[in-house]
Amino acid sequence: MQKGINIVCSYCMRTFFAVLLICISLSGWSQKLRIGLYFVSKVKTVEVNQDNGSYLMTADSQVVDTLTGKFSFIAYAKGEQIRARLDGNDLGTYHTVKFTPLEDSTGFKIRSLTHKSKYRYYWGGVEVSMGEGKLKIINTVDIEDYLPGVVESESGINERAEYYKIQATISRTYARAQAGKHALEGFDLCDHTHCQVYRKRSRKNPEIPKAVKDTEGLVLVDSDINLISALFFSNCGGQTCNSENVWNTEMSYLRSVKDPFCKNMPHYYWKKEVPKTKWINYMRNKTPDYFKLNGSFDENFDVEFDQGKRRVYYSNPGFTVPLTAIRSDFKLRSTFFTITESGDNIVFRGRGFGHGVGLCQEGAMKMADLGYSYLEILKFYYTGIHLIHVDDMEFFKMD
Ligand SMILES: [Zn+2]
Ligand SMILES: [Zn+2]
Repeated sequence: MQKGINIVCSYCMRTFFAVLLICISLSGWSQKLRIGLYFVSKVKTVEVNQDNGSYLMTADSQVVDTLTGKFSFIAYAKGEQIRARLDGNDLGTYHTVKFTPLEDSTGFKIRSLTHKSKYRYYWGGVEVSMGEGKLKIINTVDIEDYLPGVVESESGINERAEYYKIQATISRTYARAQAGKHALEGFDLCDHTHCQVYRKRSRKNPEIPKAVKDTEGLVLVDSDINLISALFFSNCGGQTCNSENVWNTEMSYLRSVKDPFCKNMPHYYWKKEVPKTKWINYMRNKTPDYFKLNGSFDENFDVEFDQGKRRVYYSNPGFTVPLTAIRSDFKLRSTFFTITESGDNIVFRGRGFGHGVGLCQEGAMKMADLGYSYLEILKFYYTGIHLIHVDDMEFFKMD
């Protein structure tokens, strides 16, 4: 009896230390993420091939094989389960098939056979199971191996090293703050603009993984040492927006700043014409929720509108409409526009592209060109923030 207890205890202790080691290895900057791939595609058949290293293959938690070389795995949607084939052999149907990396620098390539799309390359492991009427494909990957793929997908391959450090820091902060956003679907983040774009691992510009390495573990926090919502967009048109003027939530670090850097960048100016009758009907028909209507509607209202500095409302003595509503309803590039009349049309002349809250990407690119450091650029667009290592967050919070 006593011996039995001792055996259990030593087993428990070994298990405890094993779990502790895993927890320690998962803490800090080496956090593992689960990324939902092909989030907006209806993939029903997928092929996975080894690209580097070795994998342990399991099907519904049973070990199938250790795969040390090239292999071809194909999964088909089959009712509530998936049908699995390995190197041409049918393995049967399962709920989940997993490929777990057995060493560092292990990677795979994957393609949708449903769409006959090109291979995408990723680091880490992959799991395939059945989702809502399509395959659920999850890449299990260390955050620092995930980031170069995001930086390349979000900012392309032709930017300066300093700009890549900005994108790496923003994307790391976002991933840390938002991990678990898709918890109900069984993963942390998706691979689409809904979270952060992650089309593949970075392969084309060595400056991108270098920028991730140079900023390893660094995140942006506010004065209370909480991770910030590191929002960004294409071009602010010369002035960014206060967060509360776009989403009704005031954030201390998302303040409007005047930006002289994005002028004449590709998305600085835009123009759009719409028929004047459409504009008047819009104003007449919009629900009172959008309007602050003073008295009865006068269709001979003065349509001309000017914004020297950014404004929040389109208003005249008769009514008031949020510019965000107009931007959405008329599919405008930004809320930073003037309106003039031209014959039967009204003409929007606008500046900037995107919601305008946070970091202006084209301004940041220009600042990097001019020799500003990535920290100077981040501090220019995010008010009162700090750059710290994620492992130091608790220390500073206790201070
Ligand atoms: Zn998402
Ligand atoms: Zn700007």
